[in-house]
Amino acid sequence: MRRFPLELYGIRRMLRRMDERSADYLEIGEQERAMTFGWLGERRVDQFVARSGIHPERIITNLTLHQPTVGAVQLDTIIVTNSRVLLLEVKNIHGTLELESAPARLKRTAADGVIQYFGCPYTQLTNATAVLSRRLDSHRISLPVEGALILAAKNSEPKFPKGHQAYFPSELPGLIHRANNESKLVNNEDAIAIAAYLRRLHSPFNPFPLASSRELTGLYHGSLCSLCDGHLRIGSTRKTDCRKCGASQWMPYTENLIDYFLIWGDTLTSRQCEAYLGVKGTKAKSLLRSGPFIRHLSSHRTYYTLDYSAVRLNSNGKLML
Ligand SMILES: [Zn+2]
Repeated sequence: MRRFPLELYGIRRMLRRMDERSADYLEIGEQERAMTFGWLGERRVDQFVARSGIHPERIITNLTLHQPTVGAVQLDTIIVTNSRVLLLEVKNIHGTLELESAPARLKRTAADGVIQYFGCPYTQLTNATAVLSRRLDSHRISLPVEGALILAAKNSEPKFPKGHQAYFPSELPGLIHRANNESKLVNNEDAIAIAAYLRRLHSPFNPFPLASSRELTGLYHGSLCSLCDGHLRIGSTRKTDCRKCGASQWMPYTENLIDYFLIWGDTLTSRQCEAYLGVKGTKAKSLLRSGPFIRHLSSHRTYYTLDYSAVRLNSNGKLML
């Protein structure tokens, strides 16, 4: 099962620090909604893929391949079956879906009649399939790649022309079963080795710190309430209360520190940490040494970075400390 995206967590935390009346808030709010839908769709697909009983090591999620001419290509889900590599493109878009050409795009008509356009999933799938095939070829792996569009929304109604196949998540166990039993080219061990090879091709994409790439200013730097995400009062003690719901709580220093790295900066010295959190030097050092941070020693300046892979989120996107 794939992990809750840290970028989505960071975007949610950043939204709570923004002025709700600003244009940026609306735009980033839209992005947050789209990412949330994407995440929920992928989760649903994961559940049905798991039901097929295929070995978990034969499944690869969120693989990013770097292509010299095209840039980064994001592959949602790859399943190495006995006869071919299934490449799933997951779309979680409800409503009536139609394809348009010149330019190729996906038209969605919602139940209330509102029309919205998205990138053409078949164009994406064709490109992704070509990229993946080339990588397998160059490693002399002679498994064909089959792209499959998965419509993860419960109420999406595709009206696609002939030859444009799409599947619902419930069809996945059958699809995987067929691919495993048709003209087998590899066995379980080979398939696991191929999946491991593909995983090694992953080049992680780091979108952090989020505010710097967007030139956002005027963000709230203080702590957020653990209950309602309201802004906390700054007190002289570790115990404080929320301006919005009034709940009394301990200062969530570590949460706030993680936000620093996700939103504002790549590195932090303990001096900067003192100023950011409003704590004394010994407190700043102990916080930086006990959280998911990496210490970099240098002769003139010791600084800390965030160990992104050590930040644990549950499936609802809540930080687990
Ligand atoms: Zn609160």
